[in-house]
Amino acid sequence: MHARREFLVIGGGIGGLSAALALALRGMPVRVLEKAPEFTEIGYGLQMGPNAYHVMRLLGIAEQVEAQSVHPRALILMDALTDRELTRIATGAAFQARYRFPYIVVHRRDLHGALYAACRTRGEIALMTSKEFTAFTDHGDRVTVTCADGSEYEGRALIAADGLHSCARELLLGDGPPRIAGHFVYRGVVPIDEVRNQSYFDSMVIWCGPDLHFVQYRLRGGTVMNYVATFVSEQFRRGLPGFGGADELLQAFAQTAPAVRDMLGHVGKDKNWILYDREPVPNWTRGNVTLLGDAAHPTLQYLAQGACMAMEDAVVLAAKLERAGADVNSAFLAYQGERYLRTARVQITSRIFGDIMHARGGARDLRNHLMAQRTPDTTWEIDWLYRAIEV
Ligand SMILES: Cc1cc2nc3c(=O)[nH]c(=O)nc-3n(C[C@H](O)[C@H](O)[C@H](O)COP(=O)(O)OP(=O)(O)OC[C@H]3O[C@@H](n4cnc5c(N)ncnc54)[C@H](O)[C@@H]3O)c2cc1C
Repeated sequence: MHARREFLVIGGGIGGLSAALALALRGMPVRVLEKAPEFTEIGYGLQMGPNAYHVMRLLGIAEQVEAQSVHPRALILMDALTDRELTRIATGAAFQARYRFPYIVVHRRDLHGALYAACRTRGEIALMTSKEFTAFTDHGDRVTVTCADGSEYEGRALIAADGLHSCARELLLGDGPPRIAGHFVYRGVVPIDEVRNQSYFDSMVIWCGPDLHFVQYRLRGGTVMNYVATFVSEQFRRGLPGFGGADELLQAFAQTAPAVRDMLGHVGKDKNWILYDREPVPNWTRGNVTLLGDAAHPTLQYLAQGACMAMEDAVVLAAKLERAGADVNSAFLAYQGERYLRTARVQITSRIFGDIMHARGGARDLRNHLMAQRTPDTTWEIDWLYRAIEV
């Protein structure tokens, strides 16, 4: 038993490390317990809206992330069947003046690496790997957690950032596994000089098609191109076995324009990601225990905001804890209250945006008609999301 009065953070992903850093920057000691044998991220690119760039500034990592990031010239929606542009959001000077911060894309490892490096410089943070959290006991004035290897840790309170399949959430809320959306993702990253079609290569581009979409943007200072193919599995819908496989991916994209099918060649076919989400809940805090990031409010990726929300959670939580002093439960409830409807809006809007991207038939015609009426400086749809939060 380690009898310390520190905050215990479960999970060393983007949410957990952001929380540890945010607390440490306000002078609070933190112990991070990560189940993997090392602190690392799997996956490829992340889009980070100006709201998340603001948080990176608050956490003191914006410069490091910036050095490895790319600033897309615009966010462009295309029709995947015709390869014609539907609309765009210009991300230049007017966008940055409006939101105070830029829109960037970054490799997950680069963002996570910057967070990890910053955590390692803070004496307030203890980082532990191969610590799989399995249980907690809230004693009222402190919390004890147990790990799979039998070790126990005691702290002032518990912040669980253990992701989509959160063990802490199940212990706290008991609301079962997340919902399988039946959407499947395949990804690829290739050196920029291997990219055959370089049109639009300086922007973040989404080709929208019936029950599918395809994303491209450059990463790592523009040296590589990141590709993401997503489709809604008909086999999953019908409850047929073998859903989400590479054959079904190719079949879904067979209807797309030649340029899209060509880019699909850059996507790895041996590994896919299954997408999940949950209904929003208002009660992810009990006593001295709270959830953060995907553990609290997992979302489909269609607004590209799951990691951004986890980072916002972190700085809001730290501010509430500092203001509340010894009353941790009040701070956790204030944090939850402030985050609930914003994260719920991201969860719900992500689903809606997915439906718009994946529209077919008359819905597709209507989408394309309405998109054509936007100008590159139309911002009303995203103002609520991209404006920097108050901390
Ligand atoms: C295809 C796809 C594309 C995406 N694109 C974007 C994007 O462009 N922009 C964006 O903002 N978001 C995006 N997201 C969402 C983003 O990846 C997640 O929202 C984000 O990673 C959540 O961070 P987290 O720290 O809450 O959880 P995670 O990243 O899942 O981290 C959880 C950590 O907890 C650890 N852990 C789990 N269980 C235990 C345990 N019992 N004990 C100890 N440790 C444990 C895990 O090993 C892991 O390190 C995307 C998601 C997907 C699937």
